[in-house]
Amino acid sequence: MTEFEMVVGLECHVQLATASKLFCSCSTGSFGAEPNANVCPVCTGQPGTLPVLNRKAVELGFKAALALGCTLRDVSIFARKNYFYPDLPKGYQISQYELPFSDHGRLDIPGPPAKTIGIHRIHLEEDAGKLLHLAGSRALDHSLADYNRAGTPLIEIVSEPDLRTSEEASQYLTTLKAILQYVGVSSCDMEKGELRCDANVSVRRHGEDTLGTRAEIKNLNSFKNVRDALEHEFGRQVALIKEGGRVVQETRLWDAGRGATFAMRSKEEAHDYRYFPEPDLVPLRADPDLIERLKAETPELPLMRRARLVSQYGLSDDAAGVLTAERALADYYESAVAVCGPKAAKAAANWLGTELLGRLHADKKTIVDSPVPPGHLGELAALIEEGTLSSRLAKEVFAKMWETRVSPKELVETQGMTQVSDESQVAQWVEAAMADNPQSVADLRAGKEQAIGRIVGGVMKRSGGKANPAVVQKLIRERL
Ligand code: ADP
Ligand code: MG
Ligand code: ZN
Repeated sequence: MTEFEMVVGLECHVQLATASKLFCSCSTGSFGAEPNANVCPVCTGQPGTLPVLNRKAVELGFKAALALGCTLRDVSIFARKNYFYPDLPKGYQISQYELPFSDHGRLDIPGPPAKTIGIHRIHLEEDAGKLLHLAGSRALDHSLADYNRAGTPLIEIVSEPDLRTSEEASQYLTTLKAILQYVGVSSCDMEKGELRCDANVSVRRHGEDTLGTRAEIKNLNSFKNVRDALEHEFGRQVALIKEGGRVVQETRLWDAGRGATFAMRSKEEAHDYRYFPEPDLVPLRADPDLIERLKAETPELPLMRRARLVSQYGLSDDAAGVLTAERALADYYESAVAVCGPKAAKAAANWLGTELLGRLHADKKTIVDSPVPPGHLGELAALIEEGTLSSRLAKEVFAKMWETRVSPKELVETQGMTQVSDESQVAQWVEAAMADNPQSVADLRAGKEQAIGRIVGGVMKRSGGKANPAVVQKLIRERL
């Protein structure tokens, strides 16, 4: 298989974070709502109705394009994409075709090796409704249509065929999601279908410069599905070519349960959709003042923030990557550092990355639901850094912070949880622990270094975890 390389281009649909739909005032908050609760004559395409473009959706689309380094077109055109399917009440989808609002962007993936993936275009369009095929569960002989989602604003982000491995595709999606969340374009919750992706896959021999024939895989609703589907599809196409066969251009469906892709239909051509300019909407003009304002509102993007955390606080690139994966997490971290100062910034990153995220994860919570506010985590990091808390004590304090929401300073003061570094006090514990473990003392004298662990353990037990480990080590060695 190494004779061949994978070539992938992704088409991602992203739900824009607006309160109302793209062309009417119906709510977009349809997730979990009663079926067909959020519909009106416009989004169900009743005769005589007219669409009115949602300004907020346009702004969010523009913001996404700016964050992805795209060129914004001065004038773009909405187009009707005609097809018949029961989830599409109007019989056509309003999209953009020949003149999308932006193109020629880029997205840098971290690697290694780092790489720039081209963005071919981004256009605005409305979502379709949803069909419920309940035949199995309710013994219905028909399907049900829910139009709550019909008319929800989307952008479609089309990449160039620049991705070469499933790992790169995965990084592209992770980075794209982080950028869109940072900029506030979308919450990109894949479980709610706010980020959906189709993958175009072809293969060719290494060194060839023309592209092979591609298959388009639909229905990839998680990062894992994307990776698995790409690997499977790559293997299928390579095997086919090796047998002397040819890849046909078609739309395939990923079946996660069976771990395979299946032919769904031959690829539809643009002319199948009979695109024409949407007669009910005027051309969309990009107002220069608006663009200036949106540019000014664009925050520091994830990869830049990641690099800054590395240089400013001395974090490892991996740690900075974890912290900048979500804007809320990075904001939390920097609020904590504002309290503990740069000297304890690494400790803050450690405690956030392991203890706090570990507990949040176990409770299926995110950083915004954290019972430990960033200021408390900062205080804890400072207490560790200045030696007031050993890491063992800090763990206990942290457990209490999580349960009681009390600040670590207060816990240390009221519960006497301070680390003991006073040598005369520590010496008493050390002597007692050495007397308890004569064999370990003898082993240690004989050069068996591991034996010190048991004595240190004894000291920690006697001191209730409060003895300063560095002082303990020093005093044991003095006594040998
Ligand atoms: P369509 O509109 O028919 O879906 P596009 O030309 O817009 O086709 O391409 C859609 C996606 O397919 C893009 O992301 C593009 O990068 C990708 N793509 C095009 N050709 C290939 C190919 N030979 N192999 C892999 N991906 C491809
Ligand atoms: Mg397409
Ligand atoms: Zn409506």
